[in-house]
Amino acid sequence: MDKDFPLTGFSSAAIHAGHTQDPNYAHLVPIYASSTYVFDNAEQGMRRFSGKEDGFIYSRWGNPTLHEAEQKIAALETFGLGIEVKGILHSSGMSAISTLMLHALKAGDKVLSHFSLYGGTEELIHKVLPPLGIEPVIVDLRDLNKAEDAMKNDPAIRLLYIETPANPTIQCVDIEELTKLARQYGLLVACDNTFATPYLQQPFKYDVDFIVHSTTKFLNGHGTAIGGILLGKDIEAMSTKVTKLHRMLGGNSNSFDAFLLINGMKTLEVRMERHCHNAVEVANFLEQHPAIARVNYTGLSSHPDFHTALKQMRHPGAMLSFELKEGLQGGISFMNKLKMCIRTVSLGTCDSLLSHPASMTHYGVPKEQREKYGITDGLIRMNVGIENVQDIINDLTQAL
Ligand code: PLP
Repeated sequence: MDKDFPLTGFSSAAIHAGHTQDPNYAHLVPIYASSTYVFDNAEQGMRRFSGKEDGFIYSRWGNPTLHEAEQKIAALETFGLGIEVKGILHSSGMSAISTLMLHALKAGDKVLSHFSLYGGTEELIHKVLPPLGIEPVIVDLRDLNKAEDAMKNDPAIRLLYIETPANPTIQCVDIEELTKLARQYGLLVACDNTFATPYLQQPFKYDVDFIVHSTTKFLNGHGTAIGGILLGKDIEAMSTKVTKLHRMLGGNSNSFDAFLLINGMKTLEVRMERHCHNAVEVANFLEQHPAIARVNYTGLSSHPDFHTALKQMRHPGAMLSFELKEGLQGGISFMNKLKMCIRTVSLGTCDSLLSHPASMTHYGVPKEQREKYGITDGLIRMNVGIENVQDIINDLTQAL
């Protein structure tokens, strides 16, 4: 594609953005299976190492396949915003989050976050960072007064880390208002945009400093590779300090996974449209079903974060959860009866995936502790897939 051609639609950017013509005229970016890159002569090696000449050196530092994935995600997260950001592809979402934390925080600093977070991130900030002298401060970030009190009263807080919609509760926090507050108190702001994807929500629009993704999910879209990305607005810091840290930590992705990611992202808009359309229908179906006590979907006006989701998301997403009246046994028996939908814990794939936290991801967590976060015995989490929606509803109906 001609670099000067202005793309007006997100779907065109998802297909074309970030692509560089291969020198051998391959249509798609090849899978660069080479750990290292050669120099014409020693002088060129010197120029590359000193940064005076662009070019690849060693694949832990990047290569053309990884670069294309980084460029595409950066283009989608800034589509229509008129800003530039830099993305660094990682081996997993957790690796991207670890680089972010180690870049933004040092001993004596604190990270402010919400109580509902992806379990791995929660463990990182509660167990891995404290021995390094970095402590978490957890408040209900849906309450802006509480968020401001924490920022005002604790000058050690350096980073506001938000995940919205959050795993596993699907709670949403207000990116714009929280970022405005964080600016007043001089904090950096990072947002995990995994559940929404840039098609549904663009946190850079609200001036956050960093976005992270588990690209394993909707960006890849087919469940074929683990991956992550850290994107930052401060191009200078991203190109120097953060790049250096990423290289030292060794959390690089690989060409094959990056290739799968690039091709998955081309259908992001069409997939997300269908995911969200199906999710609304499934949520409406579940809400009127007599075996179900409660449906948590940000697209239902009964959801406490309905207005927040409506404000910052194009559609309310593909993730929902629901609570079976029959508790633990009801959850186990429902899961065992599924015939088409898949029993598994991940999300973001074309097929509908369901998990039962009380018997799976949160099996070892004491009941009182998980119930505080809304993870009750009969709670089922669902990634609504892009199958024919009637087939999804038929499977849920027979299992219920
Ligand atoms: N962030 C969110 C919201 C997630 O759901 C996950 C994984 O499920 C991660 C981060 C971690 O990503 P990964 O499994 O790719 O390391």
